[in-house]
Amino acid sequence: MLKKTNPWVREANLIGGQWVGADNGAVIEVDNPATGEIIGTVPNAGRAETKRAIEAAHAAFPAWAARTAAERGAVLHRLAGLIRDNVDALAELLTLEQGKSLAESKGEVMISAAYVQWFAEEARRIYGDVIPSPWANRKILVTREPVGVAACITPWNFPSSMISRKVGAALAAGCTVVVKPAELTPYSGLAWGVLAAEAGVPDGVVNIVTGTAAPIGDEFIENPLVRKLTFTGSTPVGKMLASRAIANMKRVSMELGGNAPFIVFDDADIDRAAEQAVLSKFRNSGQTCVCTNRFFVQSGVYDAFAEKFAKAVGALKVGNGLEPGVAQGPLINAKAIDKVAAHVADATAKGARVIAGGTRHPLGGTFWSPTVLRDATPDMRIASEETFGPVAPLFRFETEEEAVRLANSTEYGLAGYFFTRDLARAFRVAGALKYGQVGVNEGLLTTEVAPFGGVKDSGFGREGSKYGVEDYLDMKYVCIGGL
Ligand code: NAP
Repeated sequence: MLKKTNPWVREANLIGGQWVGADNGAVIEVDNPATGEIIGTVPNAGRAETKRAIEAAHAAFPAWAARTAAERGAVLHRLAGLIRDNVDALAELLTLEQGKSLAESKGEVMISAAYVQWFAEEARRIYGDVIPSPWANRKILVTREPVGVAACITPWNFPSSMISRKVGAALAAGCTVVVKPAELTPYSGLAWGVLAAEAGVPDGVVNIVTGTAAPIGDEFIENPLVRKLTFTGSTPVGKMLASRAIANMKRVSMELGGNAPFIVFDDADIDRAAEQAVLSKFRNSGQTCVCTNRFFVQSGVYDAFAEKFAKAVGALKVGNGLEPGVAQGPLINAKAIDKVAAHVADATAKGARVIAGGTRHPLGGTFWSPTVLRDATPDMRIASEETFGPVAPLFRFETEEEAVRLANSTEYGLAGYFFTRDLARAFRVAGALKYGQVGVNEGLLTTEVAPFGGVKDSGFGREGSKYGVEDYLDMKYVCIGGL
């Protein structure tokens, strides 16, 4: 159960500074994926509540946008500090609703704070331009202005850091927001709202609604007061929302699904590749958008890599994320484990060989044994679909050209990784991979200072880094004449 002593637990929505229930009192039950136990309920809000939240954000916008960058930054600095100071309570809440290990939850809460801190600093670096004028008597200025109310939709796999990455940037830019956290993991998002208020974010600047996705999304898209939609989630939902938002001429950012390749060349440091492969594949039990989905291993090191990797994967401790030493928590729900089971069954029926795991875990529920499959081939579902679970298929390749072709043969383009000791190859392959983010001899790339985002069906827009604020700014050209 949720600890009622945890000061950041809130079972209400934040609208215009008030904590409120759904108009009709309806609630959504939230469970702990490790135990199946219902840990609490949150409001099942709909369009009317969302409309009021948007109006509250719209009303709060002029005053927030008028604050100096230093003032907005100071509020965000306080918020970052509060998140860090309460990492233990926030991490426990995150593990309870999401399932990831406590160590990973602490890591997520800390990066959540790091995003807020980063954007606190970036608020003061939103520059404009003075362009050399073609007219002697006119000056040309370019200024950057906040877009207005931003609607933010976040997924269940990173319920804290995805909010920080969006809302931190939006608030730094001078925007106000309405956030819809995922139905499966609303508590970390609601806690974000409590912390924001505590840090001095004025009423109406951050609003949070929980409820059924479709009506909330419809209001976000159709309400003219919303000027920007930012979404992190699956590609099909993202495409549907983006096309409708663009029809209403709203600014749009889309952080969508991935199908990350991880290439191990014959000249790689195999020990490092195997160690990084575990991190890249099994973080959050394989439920991250940048998790490796396909491993391509060159023939000369295929057996050696497979053996080292399978051994490391076999040693991962599976269990309730709150227990010490657990590396792999449960999958988020029954649908997720059914997809994993279907991908493994399809792969083994088509000739893949299990060298680690391969079955549901003895703990039952949504626990799956971390799995490595040898002899994977492109006709398997796992080659083209995002498994979003703890299954690592190993494909064999012969040449660099073949590896790049296979890695790029997907509609996704979020993150890719490769391992080599050859400097020339490192530059060649980094340039050839059609991905928004590339790791060379690295399996984990995410940091608040670097741009996160994809190409192709993985979406557009960048979050984090100095570029992350741009998605929340409009450019204005001012011509000063008669000089
Ligand atoms: P999802 O089903 O697309 O849901 C994401 C969010 O969209 C949730 O808040 C969901 O609400 C909401 N949503 C669903 N249908 C909607 C609708 N009709 N209108 C408005 N909102 C709607 O994705 P997910 O299963 O939560 O997340 C996993 C996916 O996210 C994976 O594909 C993963 O790769 C991707 N992801 C991408 C990134 C990135 O930065 N590129 C980061 C993390 C995850 P409900 O929960 O209430 O249904």
